[in-house]
Amino acid sequence: MAVQWIIVGIYALLVVVPAFLPPPARTAHIWTNLTLFAQFVFWGIWWPFVLVSMVMVGRLWCGVMCPEGALSETASRHGRGRSAPAWVKWKMWPFVAFVLTTVYGQMLSVYQYPKPALLILGGSTVAAIWIGYMYGRNKRIWCKYLCPVHGVFGLLSKLSPLHYRVDRAAWDDSTKPVARLNCAPIVPIRTMQGASTCHMCGRCAGFRDAVALSRRTPGSEIVHVAGSQTKPWETWLIVFGLLGVAAGAFHWASSPYYIAGKQAAAEWLVDKGVMWPITGHVPWWVLTNYPDLNDVMSPLDGAMLLTYLTFVALVFGGAIMVFLASAGRLLARPLGGATLGAVWRQRTHHLAQALIPIAGSIVFLGLLATTTSILKADGIRLTFMPTVENTVMAAAALWSVALAWRICGLYAGSRTRQIAATTLMLGAIGAGALAWALPY
Ligand code: SF4
Repeated sequence: MAVQWIIVGIYALLVVVPAFLPPPARTAHIWTNLTLFAQFVFWGIWWPFVLVSMVMVGRLWCGVMCPEGALSETASRHGRGRSAPAWVKWKMWPFVAFVLTTVYGQMLSVYQYPKPALLILGGSTVAAIWIGYMYGRNKRIWCKYLCPVHGVFGLLSKLSPLHYRVDRAAWDDSTKPVARLNCAPIVPIRTMQGASTCHMCGRCAGFRDAVALSRRTPGSEIVHVAGSQTKPWETWLIVFGLLGVAAGAFHWASSPYYIAGKQAAAEWLVDKGVMWPITGHVPWWVLTNYPDLNDVMSPLDGAMLLTYLTFVALVFGGAIMVFLASAGRLLARPLGGATLGAVWRQRTHHLAQALIPIAGSIVFLGLLATTTSILKADGIRLTFMPTVENTVMAAAALWSVALAWRICGLYAGSRTRQIAATTLMLGAIGAGALAWALPY
């Protein structure tokens, strides 16, 4: 609890105060200016390494350190205590909230300026507190259903070598008097098989002599658990959210396709005599608008940004889905009472899980590019970064191939079919890598 409240204090300081300070002088540095320091801490360290922590230790960040989770749970302790309504439990929220936040963040240049950071991060915190106040008692309804990154964190934590393992037999045989246990993200602990919904808070450790922090083979949850708990929203998040919208969001500004498209649209508008989309300004909370810093997005810029992100998501996400569905079809046969279509869908969703390493690495590398550019602006050049980026991407792609091979092996029935399905998966993994490499 002490750690959580210290982080809440630091978070509030770094989110709120810079938004009310004057813009940093040209000579300012990370170590001399709070705005630059907060920018570096949030986007250069906090975000990329929270993602890494998911792969290393599961959702420990969520359970022990996240300020929004702590505030939401505290609000729910003193709030109305209502049960969560159907709209809160809508299954597509993890995908929709992630995409909306990513796109809105790009429209406002959230990585560069403190006011958008306050609006987006602070707005999310206010929403978390409100949801906590309204729904649940001592619970984290926000974290379980609505947090814009809970889907991404849940996916990455499936790769973690640590989890809370539940021994079902020991649970059922336990003669200990039933103690009260508050699992804030409302995980059905007795039947819990993986780490993706667990916040690693440790409150259930030792419960009924059946729950223990345990090691496992990294990625084993993806191969052995994810197939029996397929969730279509996870496929949407991996394929169109991370490998589509997020990949585009990290490289749109430097993409020659974006620049060429914008130029062509501008020429067409000039020919038609329609100038307002090129010269118009809108408030900073709609599109980036800092004329004093020579940084303004016109309505045309905004429209082209949305077009580019949609284009990347549809082209790369669409190609990946074709490969996934083809591999899924190869591995599908009518089974028991299940129709061919149902088995095909299950195989396809399970195969999509193999793309988690490459999807996670795209977001990590995108944020690492922010780290590099912030440090570069301060005169610190990390010349080894291209090597790091290529190594991370190659390792993630190999990990995805290994997972695809193992998943295909579960259903193939023959080595030839396993090789054929894995070959199709190479197409999906290659398309994912290409989405990242597009501007290069
Ligand atoms: S399952 Fe246990 S460790 Fe995980 S969030 Fe619930 S109480 Fe905490």
